[in-house]
Amino acid sequence: MEPTSHMPALGRRQLMTGAAALAAAVGLGQRAFARPALARTAQDTVPATTPASALALMELPYADNALEPVISANTISFHHDKHHRAYLNNTNAAVAGSPLAGKPLEDIVRAAFEGSDAKSRSLFNNAAQVWNHDFYWRSMDPDGGGKPEGELLAAIERDFGGFDAFAEAFAKAATGHFASGWGWLVADEAGKLSVMSTGNADLPLVHGKRALLTIDVWEHAYYLDHQNRRADYVRQWMEKLANWRFAASNLAG
Ligand code: FE
Repeated sequence: MEPTSHMPALGRRQLMTGAAALAAAVGLGQRAFARPALARTAQDTVPATTPASALALMELPYADNALEPVISANTISFHHDKHHRAYLNNTNAAVAGSPLAGKPLEDIVRAAFEGSDAKSRSLFNNAAQVWNHDFYWRSMDPDGGGKPEGELLAAIERDFGGFDAFAEAFAKAATGHFASGWGWLVADEAGKLSVMSTGNADLPLVHGKRALLTIDVWEHAYYLDHQNRRADYVRQWMEKLANWRFAASNLAG
């Protein structure tokens, strides 16, 4: 599946120095040390009008009910039309009229990550969540699950010692992450695969990793369908929805 208009090709790498320069250009304070992303479900302003350069809400690549019974149409509609849209609206409002307006989403995420002030943190929390959700929707396939094939399977077997060992590590990262966040399959600069979990809006691209696949483990992703049983959601997601073709395309990219 092709990247959305505001998500550059996933294999493209951009230098952090460029993000730092962009952050400085738009007046975002420079970060002095790594900080965890703050929990912020942005409720801020929504633009009264949408400029032509504004980021657009990614359309779902399947029907609302296509992921049932693992994820209901009710969950998908709230998640996409309310949560994802709020992150997008807040990102557009924050960058409107600034040099970041019209920039690719990844540039906005990196520039905000470089900032250390409250404005930067708020922008990062919203823009990164737009990126994460764009990636999450494509990490699922109504006909997904099972095992990957070809190069991706070979890389998983090489770096985890087998698919089952990977599946256990991924489930542990996703299920065991305390509080809101994300579980990821990632590749480093050398192409070595690993799993990671991130909190709140945090994401691999600001940690030098390339995302291959992600699962959203914020409660809004599963609570209506699985209540507190996050492990059930993660297990069923792996068995029936994991989009290995998407992951393989990210590894190849
Ligand atoms: Fe979410």
